Amino acid sequence: MIDLISDTVTLPTPEMRKAMAEAEVGDSQRGEDPSVNRLQEAVAEFLGKDAALFLPSATMANQIAFKVHTRPGDEIIIDAASHAVHYEGGAPAFLSGTMICPVEGDRGVFTEEDVLANVRPDDPHAPRTRLVCVENTHNQGGGKVWPLGKLMAVSDIARRLGLAVHTDGSRLMNAVMASGISAREYAYPVDSVTLCFTKGLGAPVGAALAGEKDFIKEARRVQQVFGGAMRQAGIIAAGALYALEHHVERLAEDHVHARLLANRLADEEGIDIDPAEVETNIIYFRINGMTGLDFVGRLKEYGVRMGGYRDGRVRAVTHMNISRADVLKAAHAVYEMLADIRPGTSAQPS
Ligand SMILES: *Cc1c(COP(=O)(O)O)cnc(C)c1O
Repeated sequence: MIDLISDTVTLPTPEMRKAMAEAEVGDSQRGEDPSVNRLQEAVAEFLGKDAALFLPSATMANQIAFKVHTRPGDEIIIDAASHAVHYEGGAPAFLSGTMICPVEGDRGVFTEEDVLANVRPDDPHAPRTRLVCVENTHNQGGGKVWPLGKLMAVSDIARRLGLAVHTDGSRLMNAVMASGISAREYAYPVDSVTLCFTKGLGAPVGAALAGEKDFIKEARRVQQVFGGAMRQAGIIAAGALYALEHHVERLAEDHVHARLLANRLADEEGIDIDPAEVETNIIYFRINGMTGLDFVGRLKEYGVRMGGYRDGRVRAVTHMNISRADVLKAAHAVYEMLADIRPGTSAQPS
C-alpha cells in the first residue's frame, strides 16, 4: 500500500531508534531529564524564543497556549478551517471555556483587516477578544505557507489591539523549507509557537510549545494540570531531537514529490486540481462526478490510500516513507482506476 493518508504515518528510522534507545534520561517533571532539556533548549534556540516545553502532542501544545493566553469567555480569532477548530475535539471550549471567532481566510491565510473587522469592542456585552491564532503551514488550506509579510501585518495589528498571537506551526518546518524564511523569522512576530515532531519530521511522539519566559512558566503549570508532564521522556525527546537535526532539510523532497503528484493528477481527465497551489507536502483535489469518499474507497483497491473528506475533496500527503517511484505509481493507480470506471470500458462495474 502506498500510504498518502497523512505525514503522521511516517515510521522512525533505524538511526532515530538508536538515538532513542541510547538517550540519557531522568525525571523530566523535576527538570532532570537531560534529553528533554536538550530538546527544549534546541527548540527555543531554533525559534529564537526564551524557552520551550516538550509535550506529548501538538494538540496539547495548542491547547496549553490557548489556556495561558485566555480566560473563560474570551474569544480567539482563527481561520474557520483550522486544525484547532475542527480536529481538537472542541478543546478550546472544553479546556479553556473560550469562544472561537472563525474568519474566512484565503486557504487559511487571513489579513489584518480580518482581525480589525472581528475584534470585539470593549463592552461588557461582548466577549473579550484575546488571541489571534494562525496555522502555518495550513493543513486544510492545502499546506499553504503564510507569507511572512502577512503574518507580520496580522501580528502588528494584534499587538496594537493588545491581543496575543499564537502560531500552530505543527508543519512550520515545511513552511521554512518551502519559503527559505527561517523558523526564527516566523516565530519572531508571534508570542507562542507549536511545533509537531510526528508529521513530516518523522518522530514517533511529541510536540513542543515555545515562547517567552513568563509564558512558558505559566505553560509549565498548565502542562501539569493537563497531565502532560512526563517522567523519563528523554526516550521520545531523543527521537524528536534527532528529527529536528536530521529531517528538516529533507522536507524539500516531500514538496517536490507533492508537486509531481499534483502535476500528474492535473493531466487526468476529471480531476480538478491546481498544481500551482501546491507549496509544500499536502495536496487537495476534487473528482468530477465522484465524491472524495467514493474515490478513496475505490483507490484503495489499487493499492493507494488517500483521505476523503465530506466536502467532496481528497487529500494526499507526501512524506519520508514515500519515494518518487511511489508517487509515480500512485498517479498511475489513479489513472487506471479512473480508466476502469469510465463509461464504455469493459471493466466498468455494473
Ligand atoms: C497534526 C496537527 C495538530 C495536532 O497534532 P497532534 O500531535 O496529532 O496532536 C495540530 N495542528 C495541525 C496544523 C496539525 O497538522
